[in-house]
Amino acid sequence: SMASPALLMRVVASAYSVAEKAAKIVRNVMSAGDLGIVEKTGANDLQTKADRLVQMSICASLARKFPKVTIIGEEELSSEEVTEDLIENGHCEEILKKTCPAQYTGIKEEELVIWVDPLDGTKEYTEGLLDHVTVLIGIAYGGKAIAGVINQPYYNYEAGADAVLGRTIWGVLGLGAFGFQLTEAPAGKHIIVTTRSHSSTLVNDCISALNPDSVIRVGGAGNKIIQLIEGKASAYVFASPGCKKWDTCAPEAILHAVGGKITDIHGNPFQYNKEVKHMNSAGVLATLRNYDYYASRIPNTVKQSLVP
Ligand code: AMP
Ligand code: MG
Ligand code: MG
Repeated sequence: SMASPALLMRVVASAYSVAEKAAKIVRNVMSAGDLGIVEKTGANDLQTKADRLVQMSICASLARKFPKVTIIGEEELSSEEVTEDLIENGHCEEILKKTCPAQYTGIKEEELVIWVDPLDGTKEYTEGLLDHVTVLIGIAYGGKAIAGVINQPYYNYEAGADAVLGRTIWGVLGLGAFGFQLTEAPAGKHIIVTTRSHSSTLVNDCISALNPDSVIRVGGAGNKIIQLIEGKASAYVFASPGCKKWDTCAPEAILHAVGGKITDIHGNPFQYNKEVKHMNSAGVLATLRNYDYYASRIPNTVKQSLVP
């Protein structure tokens, strides 16, 4: 008889369904038309009703199934009552059929940390750039991002009424990543993807130093990792603080599962244990291939401006 699936695979299978429920909430809030926008630290740091409801949905749903797992979400919510309609208790059967990598079969609930960005790309969501938006559920063990789910609620929204709206990408280190077509960026070209709404002189100086053939400015950390794994961009470069652990955990697991690399601008790996500070103070450098090319060209002046 089959042994019961490993905890990690059950968490990923549940996170998949929880992320699909989250995507429905993101779409419903937008179609209802009242975004309920609140400024957090300022006009470029927003929270909407979708950020709040999705955070409640994801955290409460996963906590109910996996009560000993540490869950850290982006939004600080005044202990609002979670209504039963926000709870998702399903899971993805396809994920449960996959074999858990041997090094992760013994993981216990209390050893996992789940980093949740209920809505990544909020600024763009409020501006109608809907395909920039993702829902991020990252799973860490031993301080490392080992699994992740990225849902893109508005994938295909400009492709016409026949196209299926939304998709879910997921991955586990040692197993691979699924839900998209892995594609290499054009060979010999340096296409940089970076922030759209959180630029600075340092961000732009760093990009110029890399002699890019082109620069793509889009919202969301999740969205930018998707640009890398689908061959739209060759490097994600963000020489600024501002990006947090919940922005990078799920994208990191998926990028690493397909052989890519993400670090801060100095080349330091990110840590995801529950005690770690949330801010990625020293920026982001990520690629699917040729990481060393970009890392070796980050100017020292940029590095000196960004303290880990
Ligand atoms: P972006 O590439 O600008 O979409 O940023 C990626 C993620 O980091 C998003 O979740 C942003 O909200 C966050 N972020 C980056 N810079 C800042 C900032 N200066 N203030 C607040 N959040 C930021
Ligand atoms: Mg975010
Ligand atoms: Mg967010």
